[in-house]
Parts: sequence; C-alpha cells; structure tokens
Amino acid sequence: MDNIQKLKETILKEYPRLTEVDPFCFECGPHLECFNACCADVNIFLTPYDVLRMRRALGLGSAEFLARHTIIPFDKNQKLPTPLLLMNDSEKKECPFVNAKTGCTIYYDRPWPCRMYPLGMASPAEYAAPEMKPFYYILREDDCGGLARKRPWTVREWMEDQGVMAYQEFGELFKSITLNKALSEGWTTNEKQISLYWVSLYDLDVFRCFIFESSFLRRFIIDSKTIQSLKSDDEALLRFGFNYVKMVLFGERTIPISREAEAKVRAAHTQKTKTNG
Ligand code: SF4
Ligand code: SF4
Repeated sequence: MDNIQKLKETILKEYPRLTEVDPFCFECGPHLECFNACCADVNIFLTPYDVLRMRRALGLGSAEFLARHTIIPFDKNQKLPTPLLLMNDSEKKECPFVNAKTGCTIYYDRPWPCRMYPLGMASPAEYAAPEMKPFYYILREDDCGGLARKRPWTVREWMEDQGVMAYQEFGELFKSITLNKALSEGWTTNEKQISLYWVSLYDLDVFRCFIFESSFLRRFIIDSKTIQSLKSDDEALLRFGFNYVKMVLFGERTIPISREAEAKVRAAHTQKTKTNG
C-alpha cells in the first residue's frame, strides 16, 4: 500500500471529523519560530485552478510554468495525471516561492493546500467510501507551532480568511473529473484522452490555440459571447475546458456538435461499417 493510501486509511479511521462550524485554534505568521518551516520538502498537488493562479502571478505561460515548477509523480492507482509543485534542488528542498524574511512571495495566489493548512478535506469518492459524508480534519505536522496557539476559528471562518472560497467552484469541477464514478467502475483512458485532459485543464495557452487555430470552432456550436470570453478570460477558458474534458473522457454531451461534424462522424461510421462488412 503506498503512503498516500495509508494516510487516507488513517484519516478515515482515526482523525476527528470536523464540519464547517466546528472550532479549532491556530495562529501563523513571521512572529512564530516555525515561520516558513512548512514551505520545504512538502508534497503539494496542484489543481488546474492552482496552476492558473500561480503562473499568472508569476507572469509565466502555462507550458513554461508546468515545465519549470511541476513534476508528475508516478502513481499506478491514478488514471489521470496531477502535477506536484517542484521543490528546490537543495538540501532543505524549499519551495521556490518562499522568502526567508517575508514568507510566501505568491501569497495572494498560493495553491489550495497552502491556504487550507492546517485543515484537510475528505470527499467520499476520493476515499472510495460512498456512505461517508465529506468532512474536514486537522493535519498535525511536528514542525508547526501554530496549533499550540490559542487563536480560535471555526472551519468556515478559517477558509473565508484564507480566500479558499474562490477556489471552491473550480475544486468541485476538478473533482467531477478526477472522482468521476466512471473511473471507479473500471473506465480506462487512452493516451489521446490523457493528452486532451492535460491541455484543456493545465496547459491553457495551448488549449486556447487549439480552439482558435484548428477546426474546433467548426466542429462545435459555440455562441459568439462565449467565443469572445474564451479569447481573453482564463477562468472562462478553464470552465469550458472542464466541459470539454467531460465530453472527451466520459462522452457527456456538454458541448453541442455542429451539423458538419456530425455528418463527418456519420460518414466515418458508415465507411467503417462497409470496410468491416
Ligand atoms: S506556495 Fe507559498 S505557501 Fe505554498 S509552500 Fe510555497 S511558499 Fe509556502
Ligand atoms: S505556524 Fe505552521 S503553517 Fe504557520 S509558518 Fe509555522 S509551520 Fe508554517
């Protein structure tokens, strides 16, 4: 059993389950001795919205950010790749965005796990436990002195204070792909589907080129207002990417197909039937 799976089992069996109204105490900041201890040698999985916010804050294109700041860990249980934030290649393995005096240099756009900490969130599908209700839990890291402080919060107050709410919509969209029921029912991916998933959710600059510089707009019925937003609005492009991925991976009718494309699909199908006959 790998470490992530072991941790999930421990969380399910042993961690106290919190709701949004439950209290806990925590304090963080440069006045604490442990300041920045949490920003080294840590596994931070990035969602598509994390990547969008971080690379925009850094002024990098999507491909450049992914190449410079992420790796894709091998996980035989994972059917879709999720990038990990790459730590520095030094003894301490610090996060490339931490500054010894000022802390996180992309604080406003830091990823979801950095915002949530010391809280974690468990979803039923992720834990393969459909009867379970989603819950929050506290992650206790040995180096972190924040949990010994007396500043009280409720789970919801903490999430609001940390700007987590803006991430909820995209988090739910991401889970609708990665935790899709089809995946647990034996559905498998081919290389082309994985590549489209990656481009449509993570490599948004390439996705935008794909939409505007291929036959894409002839193959799908997309209204002019949406077309305009896809040109300049990254969040709109990402929402559209989620719809496209649901169609590509799970065959959901999320984007209407043009008559021209439908005719081509029918012709190809007829040709295939004749050849096979
Ligand atoms: S992104 Fe910011 S908060 Fe997260 S580990 Fe790096 S420096 Fe720390
Ligand atoms: S209190 Fe915890 S989260 Fe805050 S700086 Fe210290 S180690 Fe990091």
